Amino acid sequence: MLVDSHCHLDFPDFADDLDAIVARADAAGIGRIVSISTRVRRLASLLAISERFRNVYCSVGTHPHHADEEDGITAGELIDLTQHPRVVALGEAGLDNFYQNGSPEAQERGFRAHIAAARATGLPLVIHTREADDDCGRILEDEMAKGSFRAVLHCYTGGRELAMKAISLGLSISFTGILTFKKSQALRDLAAELPADRIMVETDAPYLAPGKFRGKRNEPSYVVEVAKVLAEARGVSLEEISRQTTANFFRLFSKVPAA
Ligand SMILES: [Zn+2]
Ligand SMILES: [Zn+2]
Repeated sequence: MLVDSHCHLDFPDFADDLDAIVARADAAGIGRIVSISTRVRRLASLLAISERFRNVYCSVGTHPHHADEEDGITAGELIDLTQHPRVVALGEAGLDNFYQNGSPEAQERGFRAHIAAARATGLPLVIHTREADDDCGRILEDEMAKGSFRAVLHCYTGGRELAMKAISLGLSISFTGILTFKKSQALRDLAAELPADRIMVETDAPYLAPGKFRGKRNEPSYVVEVAKVLAEARGVSLEEISRQTTANFFRLFSKVPAA
């Protein structure tokens, strides 16, 4: 079994053939899918999707791109929304200096509110960090000192220093199709170096289609292409990577039933 720990099934890209996409994931042995929230105010449509499919769960959070639009959402509101049985994580929240769609101040406020909610609930936080290694590392250390929380750095494209800091703080690191791109040798070298109990795979679909699907719409069944490259980079079999990453997923996303 493999798991797609991060995709966006509520995006319009999937509106016309969602049933077929989930069925293809089932057929490909993708045992669980977590559809990640990007706007707290749109949680209802995400919940409708996760209630429709047995193996699809969701998170609740504000993507840094929407940090201004959802500025002021409190940890308390987030905590209330996690009471729903299909909501299994916080996020995605964090920092994005690449697109600069949300102001840095609102991004940091949102990031810290999500961390507070993760700390209070014990649920994992899905962290989006892009071109923001120093600020992300600073906030993680600062917040961890206030009390521990669980989290994953998703779609990792940052440097070795932030990755190792995250590992030392107890966090996990997840890889997308970017790992399969020719130019990503440094990322594959880093992926080979991380502890086996802290790595996960995801698609971030509809974006970032891996390997042979590059340029097309991505979907959860393609997560196997990410797992293949991760296995190769680490010098282990696909079976071994599937076992490790799936076990890591269930340990971190502990609200998702394993059976
Ligand atoms: Zn992201
Ligand atoms: Zn995402």
